[in-house]
Amino acid sequence: MYDLIIIGGGPAGLTATIYALRKRLNVLLITKDLGGKTNYRLQCPDLDHHLVINGEEVVNRFVNEIEYLDFARVMDKTEGVERVHDGFRVRTRSGKEYAGKALIIATGANAQRLDVPGEKNFMMRGLCYSAVSYAPLFIDRETVVIGDGSLALRATAELAQIGKQVTLIAPTHGELDTPLGKRLLALPNVTLMEGYRVEAVQGDEYARAIVVKSGANVHEIRASAFFVELDLIPNSGLASDLVDCDSKGCIKIDERNRTNVPGVFAAGDVTDAFAEQVLISIGEGAKAALAAYEYLLEQPVTELAGHGERPY
Ligand SMILES: Cc1cc2nc3c(=O)[nH]c(=O)nc-3n(C[C@H](O)[C@H](O)[C@H](O)COP(=O)(O)OP(=O)(O)OC[C@H]3O[C@@H](n4cnc5c(N)ncnc54)[C@H](O)[C@@H]3O)c2cc1C
Repeated sequence: MYDLIIIGGGPAGLTATIYALRKRLNVLLITKDLGGKTNYRLQCPDLDHHLVINGEEVVNRFVNEIEYLDFARVMDKTEGVERVHDGFRVRTRSGKEYAGKALIIATGANAQRLDVPGEKNFMMRGLCYSAVSYAPLFIDRETVVIGDGSLALRATAELAQIGKQVTLIAPTHGELDTPLGKRLLALPNVTLMEGYRVEAVQGDEYARAIVVKSGANVHEIRASAFFVELDLIPNSGLASDLVDCDSKGCIKIDERNRTNVPGVFAAGDVTDAFAEQVLISIGEGAKAALAAYEYLLEQPVTELAGHGERPY
């Protein structure tokens, strides 16, 4: 039995794994990939990328270390997690089962897609899913934000502060009546297109325009970049029968990354922690590993397991 099983190899899970290894825990990382969403990079013509904070150096260093320490990782998809008498059992797509005394869930969250023609061609080529990361690049530019919830409003506010013009495509009235929504609508460089939906993304090497439609009204809007800011979908399904989640499906954690189940911790975008950013996930992963270490210190001594894959 492992001391600790970590599910998910993005910034949160990678950092948790490195911290657990440093604490000499018998740890296993189960993940579909190494790096998670840091493998995405926005490309746009004529942009000064030094303004993007992406934590690349830290994440790459941890990826290299874990690639080398192959006894501490399994590349597989986790399909289920359940409680057993002395810990937790994790089931993977390849049919293997692993047991751990403690768990860290760090499976991230996915951005919602528009699901329209052109989206796949221009994804991360002028069509972006993280304004909080890339907005600082768009000084004096014209941009478009798509969405009507808090992510879209926050993106519009940030882009309007530095940009020339922001067009907000809000499919519904959403959160426009909130104090932030009202404040945005009063800004001279924000244009609201309420009730419009995106029909297509167009461009050459990069996205250059979107086609939006409301009833019989169809418009083509050209801009430097297009930000899809719909609610994130947390990858918490595998543990939703085990731990408490909020109404959006984010795993609820306390200040030490503890869930409501003793021995189960969570970190990064899959949780209800504030803001989805690489550096925040790195910090959350470190906290979760240290909290799991403290939890394990308090458990009764049992047979010591060595490193290596231990089918349950
Ligand atoms: C397009 C885009 C660009 C971004 N750019 C930046 C940026 O420049 N700077 C910045 O700070 N933030 C950026 N962000 C946000 C940042 O990437 C995330 O906040 C961060 O990666 C979250 O880390 P995480 O470890 O919680 O989750 P993720 O990075 O999402 O990693 C989740 C991991 O869990 C694995 N996983 C998921 N489900 C399973 C399963 N069932 N079994 C096994 N493994 C599983 C995945 O394969 C992945 O390895 C960007 C986000 C997006 C969408």
